[in-house]
Amino acid sequence: MLSSVLHGRLGSAVLRRRQALLLAGAVLLTLPLVRLVPALAGARSPIWPHGVVRVYDESGMSQTVATAAARWNGSGAQVRLELVRSERKADVVVRVDDRALRHLCGRDCLGFSTSIGRAAHGRNAVILRSSLGGNPRPLSVWVAAHELGHVLGLHHRNGHDCSVMSPHAFDTRCAPSLAATQPTADELACVPAPADVDVAAGLYGGSAASRDPRCR
Ligand SMILES: [Zn+2]
Repeated sequence: MLSSVLHGRLGSAVLRRRQALLLAGAVLLTLPLVRLVPALAGARSPIWPHGVVRVYDESGMSQTVATAAARWNGSGAQVRLELVRSERKADVVVRVDDRALRHLCGRDCLGFSTSIGRAAHGRNAVILRSSLGGNPRPLSVWVAAHELGHVLGLHHRNGHDCSVMSPHAFDTRCAPSLAATQPTADELACVPAPADVDVAAGLYGGSAASRDPRCR
């Protein structure tokens, strides 16, 4: 199910290319090169009925996940990510597993989504890096929003234009701040970016709630 060869190859290239950023982000992570890899690529995105996705947080980052979910819910796309208190009621379980992340997408990987869009059996998982834990901060919310974007059915958006679906968090013009403080509204203005919302709206309806010029 996992294209590990592809991930490995991408990982090496990314690591070489982004070496210079390693030290810059040392305050947050030992390896802050943010690679966020979905397990499946290429297939048409199965969408969630009525745009509703029930999310259970097992990671201990419930505020971070809730903030990321709220960003999508207010984006203008007709999606509703609801946090539920029981795993039994969940469509998606968010958990922390650094070992699995290393195995699935390399040691510089901060997040992983097991499916793009609704899994065939209707149960998705998102894995987050433990170093993102604690109070929400711009990077942790960015990563959670990225993975929830995959859950909704969004693929990676390559290039340097602003997008929360960039495979590399620091490659875009609207890269997340490395601040260790609670993210401000300004810092989350492009999480998700209008370009991301356009894709989600194409799947679920709606339209981008704002076209903030900072998110180009
Ligand atoms: Zn990704």
